Amino acid sequence: MDLGLKGRTALVCAASAGLGFGCAEALAREGVVVTITGRDAAKLEAAAARLRLTGAEIRTAVGDITTEAGRAAALAACPEPDILVNNAGGPPPGDFRDFTDEQWMAALNGNLLTPIALIKAVLDGMIGRGFGRIVNITSASVKSPIGNLPLSNTARTGLTGFVAGVARDVARHNVTINNLLPGPFDTDRQVAISAAASKASGKSPAQETEERAVKNPAGRFGRPDEFGAACAFLCSVQAGYIVGQNILLDGGAFNSTM
Ligand code: NAP
Repeated sequence: MDLGLKGRTALVCAASAGLGFGCAEALAREGVVVTITGRDAAKLEAAAARLRLTGAEIRTAVGDITTEAGRAAALAACPEPDILVNNAGGPPPGDFRDFTDEQWMAALNGNLLTPIALIKAVLDGMIGRGFGRIVNITSASVKSPIGNLPLSNTARTGLTGFVAGVARDVARHNVTINNLLPGPFDTDRQVAISAAASKASGKSPAQETEERAVKNPAGRFGRPDEFGAACAFLCSVQAGYIVGQNILLDGGAFNSTM
């Protein structure tokens, strides 16, 4: 299916690896001019080189997207995106009693205020041009909270509430805002989660990964390219009637009838 995106511009945040990279690659394959961001310049340039193999024009913006300077660099490289994919690293796990005010503020900044700031920066331009697609990478924890991720549960649920309201305000301008909710995907973050779990259980990280993958109804973790394909469809011209949704990509791990 031609997604109708050739020549459009996209800003994909935190995209030198993992799910952000998967989204950037799927958009690049559609002929979108993609700007990717990341903190590590060498890693970002290596990712850009891989993306250029698609033939698409790829730009880069080095910086921490959770800072004003990082967002300014991203918007300087891609001032009027047709597509915005909001993404940043997830907050650390732990018991809520142990987190400092600074840690709470960092989580709220990274996973709630940063995407809102970027939405604010690009939304009116999208409305004026009569086309816009915003996809926020959140987490399956929005539907099914994860006990040791209170920072993530809290910040991402806040973003979900914000999107639910704003998405309905702008849909009539052919600007859609939706959230993609990853369950377990095969990225560096999963490697870190397995390493942390192995310290507690005494099992090897590889065994932790295997056991968690087998428990999933799909019998495996998701792949970033699968995630990217879903993102690209949400950004497509065909997806203009998908508004304010929370789409779970988790292999069926969330157990419900609907
Ligand atoms: P990842 O594999 O750790 O990739 C993170 C990417 O984001 C890297 O390119 C990293 O590059 C960049 N990045 C991280 N923090 C950044 C920042 N502050 N500013 C700019 N770039 C930044 O993570 P992922 O697995 O793709 O996860 C993406 C998001 O989905 C995270 O919020 C994660 O918590 C959430 N999530 C993931 C899963 C999963 O199974 N993978 C499940 C649920 C939710 P640099 O380090 O160079 O900046």
